Amino acid sequence: MTDDQSPFTIPPEFARDAARRLLADLVAIPSHGANEGPILEYLVARFRRQTIPCRITEVNGAPMNVVAEVGQGARAIILNSHVDTVPPGDRALWHTDPMIPTEKDGHIYGRGAGDAKGCLAAMIVAFEALAARRERLPVRVVLMAVGGEERGGIGTKTEIANGMRADAAIVGESTLLEPKLAHKGVLRLEVEVKGKAAHASDPEAGVNAVVAMASVIAALDRLAAEVRSRQERHTGRASLVISTITGGVALNVIPASCVISIDRRVLPTETEDRAREEIVRTVTAALPAGAGATVEVRTVRFVAPSATPENASIVRAAEQAASELLGRPVRASGFTATCDMTYLVNGGRIPSIILGPDSIALAHQADERMSIDEMTRAVALYLRTVEIWAADHGI
Ligand SMILES: [Zn+2]
Repeated sequence: MTDDQSPFTIPPEFARDAARRLLADLVAIPSHGANEGPILEYLVARFRRQTIPCRITEVNGAPMNVVAEVGQGARAIILNSHVDTVPPGDRALWHTDPMIPTEKDGHIYGRGAGDAKGCLAAMIVAFEALAARRERLPVRVVLMAVGGEERGGIGTKTEIANGMRADAAIVGESTLLEPKLAHKGVLRLEVEVKGKAAHASDPEAGVNAVVAMASVIAALDRLAAEVRSRQERHTGRASLVISTITGGVALNVIPASCVISIDRRVLPTETEDRAREEIVRTVTAALPAGAGATVEVRTVRFVAPSATPENASIVRAAEQAASELLGRPVRASGFTATCDMTYLVNGGRIPSIILGPDSIALAHQADERMSIDEMTRAVALYLRTVEIWAADHGI
């Protein structure tokens, strides 16, 4: 690299080699099971060698995130991706050792190679290119390598709670190099029907919770059909699925309890309260009258949906950068999974997109991998997106 180059360009061969080597290093450092420390230490040492200012954020005494920042000016953009992974899972299903990065057929295989260490590696190589010419950057660029993403977004939530704000953010998750501006939320509930236990030889002495649950399930199934008819342009259909059922304790006992779980995917136009309320109303109305059964609905987990307006500067910048890179018109669309975008948008009010190399299809599975070509192109895509965004003084 020579000094007269723009901070937003990088020779492709340099990007490829840097991203490939960085991803191999990241995969070789285990970061599942609430163990972010070693991979964060690696990043801190790497940034310090390049005199990039950075800090570690701890949560309950445990290292959770590395945040690094370069550039100047009033406006700031966040590059966010996660360092933690899910566990390797059943090693017999893998064709390589999931904890040893293995290069094969233009890909790097290993746990976390796709979700999201390949995205993070491309972001870091782009960030380091900006840092190398930081005195010429017209905006501030914040690299946020977060932990706890697979445990409910702990890292990103913590930064937002500590006051981190910016004018735009890019979340690094695999999107085949196309920007995503919205994702559905998820509401997980347990519904328990309570009856009364009795000996099976004397059914009138009890209230059968499993039989009462049958009416509740039929009513929820009718509600599920109505929920499926709701659609939003980017994220597609809402959904309601009954995913587990348990009930009864013995072959000769009237069951006193029956519990189902519900997975409800919520559109950006829906709210947690409304989605929950219609389920409570449905199950309450479905209980057989006068039979003595009661019902309780418990929230297990809620991740809010989020969406960024189509005309936001970061959306337009990423669409233009992706269109140039892919050689065809690209419009931002919806993301199929939830991710840390929800905390940046809902908690920090930061216009955000999701953007990264390769497909999310192999995330959390055996033989997880990342295409080195896609990762190399992602480096250029992140740089060009920041360049266009920095030059645009719109919203
Ligand atoms: Zn991820």
